[in-house]
Amino acid sequence: MRKTIIAGNWKMYKTITEAIELANGLKREFFKLDFAAVDVVLCPAFTALSEVAEVLTETEIGLGAQDIYWQEEGAFTGEVSPLMIKDAGCQYAIIGHSERRQFFGESNETVNKKIKAALKSGIIPIVCVGENLQEREANKTFKVVEDHINNGLAGVDVSDIANLIIAYEPVWAIGTGKTATPDQAQEVHKFIRDLLKKNYGQDVSDNIRIQYGGSVKPENIMQLMERPDVDGALVGGASLKVDSFSAIVTKASEVVK
Ligand code: PEP
Repeated sequence: MRKTIIAGNWKMYKTITEAIELANGLKREFFKLDFAAVDVVLCPAFTALSEVAEVLTETEIGLGAQDIYWQEEGAFTGEVSPLMIKDAGCQYAIIGHSERRQFFGESNETVNKKIKAALKSGIIPIVCVGENLQEREANKTFKVVEDHINNGLAGVDVSDIANLIIAYEPVWAIGTGKTATPDQAQEVHKFIRDLLKKNYGQDVSDNIRIQYGGSVKPENIMQLMERPDVDGALVGGASLKVDSFSAIVTKASEVVK
């Protein structure tokens, strides 16, 4: 049985004060949440990590960064290392988000280095994969996802694979209000699970958690979560408000498979 995992990607929103306020609001809402049924992760901007970590002390809510660099330290102006985010209180890092691939030159090769660096520092990578609209319309979805997985995870130790999280995020569904249908999500999640089985065996494939991301809202989380290979969600826009994010988490925690 795979435990549901819901992560909120706050992107480049929220000042430190606003981030503390949002984290406090969620902490209050999640006071009675059944954390045995769901893992919850908040991913604020780098600037707010330490303060949000402080708010989350003695809660079961996890903390993640939205990116990392692959070196431990050095002359890499503007970058942040896995050790630094760990020091700030993180257990997770989003790696290879489509916005980073699209706007900041992230490639499967850099994603691969970041995954290895994260794992080396004990950070759990949330690895984003997914096709854009053009690729979907050209029937290249499976090919793109296969490349993201095979090249992104190349050389990663099999023993580490089951511990990382894959987020299937069709780019055409991110921030557009256009969610993949539960059938579309399930189809790609199943493809990913089968690919992982081929590459790493049945155990890894059975245990790895695959989130769906792309305009997840309180209104569609249940139908998505009911699909057998959807193990959670990576939520952008709807994670920026206490009401919508707590509704998504609570509903997801109630889905029994
Ligand atoms: C995301 O940022 O990963 C995302 C899925 O965004 P949204 O939920 O806003 O589509």
